[in-house]
Amino acid sequence: MKKLYFLKLGGSTLTNEDKPGTAKKETIRRLLSEVRKAQSNKTFDIVIGHGAGSFGHPPAKKYKINEGLKYSFSRRGAIITHNAAKELNDIVVNEGLKVGVNLYPFAPSSFGVWNNHGATDSMVFHISHALKNGFVPLVHGDVVMDSEKGVSIASTEKVFSFLTNHMKPDKIILATDVDGLFTANPKIDKSAKFIKIINGRNIEGALKSAGSSLKVDVTGGMHSKVRSLYEMVKATGSTGYIVNANEKGRLYSILVGKPNIYTIVKE
Ligand code: ADP
Repeated sequence: MKKLYFLKLGGSTLTNEDKPGTAKKETIRRLLSEVRKAQSNKTFDIVIGHGAGSFGHPPAKKYKINEGLKYSFSRRGAIITHNAAKELNDIVVNEGLKVGVNLYPFAPSSFGVWNNHGATDSMVFHISHALKNGFVPLVHGDVVMDSEKGVSIASTEKVFSFLTNHMKPDKIILATDVDGLFTANPKIDKSAKFIKIINGRNIEGALKSAGSSLKVDVTGGMHSKVRSLYEMVKATGSTGYIVNANEKGRLYSILVGKPNIYTIVKE
């Protein structure tokens, strides 16, 4: 049976932090080409998600979307934030067309009401059918309706976490802008040491060392990434990976099962 992989392309890698609203199209194309090349022998299906990076995070912060519909500007802000995420999504879909990856977009905002961790089952239904029909389903971090706060942010990790209640991926890959998890933020602390494997024995320490992102980030940076990845791995028996998407070929290595530099997350 074909394996199923979940891949998140981090917003930090896909967008330019210095210029809000600009995408790194070459990087997007290169990463999708690695997927295309790895998929040429058709041994796996893949669901891809992407972060909002410098498109979605600045408006999400400005309009305090994490606080829900609390202010007079909240509704306007929710729409502006969704639109920004969608704008990056359109770019990713188009870059996919250029390199032959048929990404079919599913916006989490269209899949009903979320509370702490849910979305409607129709999301799973649509994504499963898209896979059967030979597409690569594409989701993204988005603003979603929330039964308590009115609206909230669903990060790609949250969307994946919902999907793993129904789908069992063999690999869950988070592609970001550092080599993996370190004992401290490697962008600040040059003595930070690389952590090759995270499992039940060192997860608590690993979580303590995982901090926030240096950019405007409304979804919790490395800490929430590691926590949700470990929870998904535990729940599904899959293997998790944190990999540097800025380094050519590392994503490809994971997809085809070759050793390279990345952090592995196991139960
Ligand atoms: P993405 O946008 O790719 O999803 P984030 O920017 O949210 O990723 O998170 C990655 C960032 O997490 C890194 O650039 C780094 O600054 C930060 N970080 C904090 N603590 C750690 C750690 N212990 N190991 C690695 N990265 C860390």
